[in-house]
Amino acid sequence: MKSNQSNIKKAKKYLNKNYCIGVPTETVYGLAANAYIDLAVKKIFDLKKRPKNNPLIVHYNDIDSLKKDCLINDNFIKLYKKFSPGPITYVLKLKKFSKISKYVTNNQKSLAVRFPKHPLLKNLLKQLDYPLAAPSANRSSRVSAVKKNDVKDEFGNKIKYILDGGVCNIGIESTIINLIGKPTILRLGGLDVSKIQKILKLKLNLAINPKRKVAPGQSLLHYSPGIPLKMNIIKPKNDEAFIIIKKRKNKSKNYFHLSFKNDLNEAAKNLYSCLRKIKNKGYKSIAVEKIPNKGLGKAINDRLQRASMY
Ligand code: AMP
Ligand code: MG
Repeated sequence: MKSNQSNIKKAKKYLNKNYCIGVPTETVYGLAANAYIDLAVKKIFDLKKRPKNNPLIVHYNDIDSLKKDCLINDNFIKLYKKFSPGPITYVLKLKKFSKISKYVTNNQKSLAVRFPKHPLLKNLLKQLDYPLAAPSANRSSRVSAVKKNDVKDEFGNKIKYILDGGVCNIGIESTIINLIGKPTILRLGGLDVSKIQKILKLKLNLAINPKRKVAPGQSLLHYSPGIPLKMNIIKPKNDEAFIIIKKRKNKSKNYFHLSFKNDLNEAAKNLYSCLRKIKNKGYKSIAVEKIPNKGLGKAINDRLQRASMY
C-alpha cells in the first residue's frame, strides 16, 4: 500500500511536468499524458508513431470531472451507472469551452471518454486536476501491452516512468460506443455488446467501414505481432506456432494455450501475451485454432482478423 502511494506520487510528478508515462488499466496498459496540454498530448503521438488523425481516449475519475468537458445524455447515464468504471468507452459531444487539447480529438467536436477501474489508476486520477489522454501503450499498429515489461519492450527508456499495476485483468481494449445520435458500436472490446444492448433495449450495429475510419482501431492492419497469422486452422505446419483454446491430450511444444478450458474471458486475457511470447521465441508464422464467435470471442476474432492482415 505504502509503496503504491509513493509510486502514484512519482507518476503524478512526471505527469505534472508534461511527460508521458505508462499506466495500468483493467483492459491494457495506457501511455498517459495531461489531456489539457498540447505539448504533453503531442508527445503521445510521437512516441507511438500514431497518425495525427487517430483521436485519443480520455480517462476520468468520475462523472463530475467529465461534465467540464462533455455534454452527457440519457443513454450515457444508463450505461455509466451499469458499467463504469469498466471496459467501455463512450463517444460524446465535446463542450465548446472545454480545455481538452485539440490534438486529442484531431479538432473534432466529439470526445471518447472512459472511466478505468484499475485501483492504482483511479487513485492517480483522483489526485490530478486534469484528465489523462491515454491510448494503448504500444507502437502504432502493434500488439497492446498487458504488463509493465511489455510497455518497456515497446518504448525502452523513451518514457520516464511506468506505474506498475501487475497484469491487466481483462487483457483486451475497451468496447467503444458512439452515443452522439443513434448509438453505434465503433470497436468490439472487453465488454460484451449483448450486455450493452440489454441496458439500452436497442439492437446495436457495428460501424465497420474500413474506407471511412471512424475509430482507427478499425483500420485493417492492427494488433499485429509482426509475423503472418492465419485463423481457423485445424492442423498447423510443423514449424509454426499454433494458438489453441481447447484442451489437448498430446500437446507439441509449438502449441500455445489461450485457455485450457475454452473460457473466452481467460483467452482474451492471455491473447496479447501469447502473441508476444510467440514472436520472442522466434517463430516465423502463427496458426490459430477456430475461436468461438460469442461473448469476448467476438473481440478476440476481431483482433486476430486485423493481425492476420500482415
Ligand atoms: P487506442 O487509443 O489504441 O485504445 O484506440 C482508441 C480508439 O478510440 C481509436 O480507435 C480511436 O479512433 C477511438 N476514438 C477516440 N476518439 C474518438 C472519437 N472522438 N470518435 C470516434 N472514435 C474515437
Ligand atoms: Mg491501440
